Amino acid sequence: MADSSLSLQSPADRALHQRRIRRLLALGSGLLVVLGICWAVFFAYNGDWGIVALDAVLVSTGLAIWRLTQRNRTRLAFYLLVGVIFVVICGISLVLDVPSAAAPRSAHFFLLVVAFSSLIFLKDDPSGLQHWVAGVCFAAFVVLASTTWGLNPAWVLPDSVRVVGTWVNAVCAIAGMYGQIYIMLNDVMDVSALEVDLRKAVERQELFLVYQPQVTSAGQVLGAEALLRWQHPQRGLVSPADFIGLAEQTGLIVPIGLMALRTACKQLVHWAEHEEMQHLTLSVNVSAQQFRQTDFVAQVQRILAQSGVRVQRLKLELTESLLVHDMDDVVRKMTELRALGVGFSLDDFGTGYSSLSYLKRLPLDQLKIDQSFVRDVLTDTNDVAIARTVINLGKSLGFTVIAEGVETPGQRDFLMENGCHFFQGYLFSKPLPAHQFQAFVMDSGLPVVAPGLNG
Ligand code: C2E
Ligand code: MG
Ligand code: MG
Repeated sequence: MADSSLSLQSPADRALHQRRIRRLLALGSGLLVVLGICWAVFFAYNGDWGIVALDAVLVSTGLAIWRLTQRNRTRLAFYLLVGVIFVVICGISLVLDVPSAAAPRSAHFFLLVVAFSSLIFLKDDPSGLQHWVAGVCFAAFVVLASTTWGLNPAWVLPDSVRVVGTWVNAVCAIAGMYGQIYIMLNDVMDVSALEVDLRKAVERQELFLVYQPQVTSAGQVLGAEALLRWQHPQRGLVSPADFIGLAEQTGLIVPIGLMALRTACKQLVHWAEHEEMQHLTLSVNVSAQQFRQTDFVAQVQRILAQSGVRVQRLKLELTESLLVHDMDDVVRKMTELRALGVGFSLDDFGTGYSSLSYLKRLPLDQLKIDQSFVRDVLTDTNDVAIARTVINLGKSLGFTVIAEGVETPGQRDFLMENGCHFFQGYLFSKPLPAHQFQAFVMDSGLPVVAPGLNG
């Protein structure tokens, strides 16, 4: 089961976040065990065996959460913690902890702890589950705080016990809130530190491109995909998955994307000077936000003119997320760029807004089967069907089809048998620095392919 993560953070930050989450769960499970045991001893002494049974449930849940956290099943542990605390606290508040003149209700404080922890823990949940959990907890808190309801006066704990309980509950709830605020602050600081670093990275030119070969079924290299890397002075090599999201949020993707395009064009010009490399095409990723810039076409045009690149060797990789807004604008920009000779590939095909109606409107050259379908193409019948469908669809619309994330000969053979034209993945090579890519092409020792030019 996927655990909580912050999409904007580097692996190091995510590890830190996970450690904090684990500490929070350890605190939660520890509190359940300690409170359960203390109250069980107390009520056993008074002969209230019904309440002792409830305390036994708390202790067992605390132990189960601790065990799940140890096994890295933090999401499941969290659901268990939230579910049990919600039911137990609502039950205790309505049955045992009914307000009196001597002691106000206090068990319901824990609902605030649960609400805030769901906002932290499930913060990246795309379904919005965190808001539902928090909303229900806040609503239950407000109801319990503003009423004196009790189910049966005979069950209510004596005031002497509830006065002590009020202190214990308040201290424990504050400890829980403290832990959450600590996590929240640290997460926010990590993200803003990364943002500051990313701004500096653009100025200090810490971002660079690596090149992953794209090959034919015969293993001939016909080009590469340019992929960004960030050489961070302290964190080491940071992968784009850890900073592209942040770059998009902060608008830094525009200068970063232009830098990537400029560097890719320079690389193509350099390759054009070598006989063994001049046939190669280069695919450059363009984020939706970058493409939506009103002057995107003019920006690209300027870079093409300045670099003197053979435009037909350049391909831009777009993703389906681009197609959600203003299709007319997308088609217009693509058509203008295509008129210059730029080619287009639709990246991660099938993972986003997959409407077939847009495919016939877009001046595309290539469909790229997403690696999530390639990964299990030998074992998952759904992925088999999807891969076959994408290949046939692409071919019938006149596009070339490339599969990314090809890691095994079995995957390549299956895709090849089903008519996939080109391949990219660790089976052939990981993304390489420019000089190593050049050596890879030279060493491949296969005859040069002259792929059709774009357009
Ligand atoms: P993408 O464009 O879909 O790139 C493919 C990703 O799959 C790359 O990850 C590549 O290293 C990885 N990959 C390639 N072959 C294999 C394989 O056989 N197995 C596995 N497991 N992975 C493989 P990378 O370099 O981390 O890039 C991640 C994403 O970041 C890219 O996905 C792209 O969306 C984005 N990105 C990278 N460079 C740029 C850029 O210059 N501009 C923009 N806007 N986005 C970029
Ligand atoms: Mg790509
Ligand atoms: Mg992709």
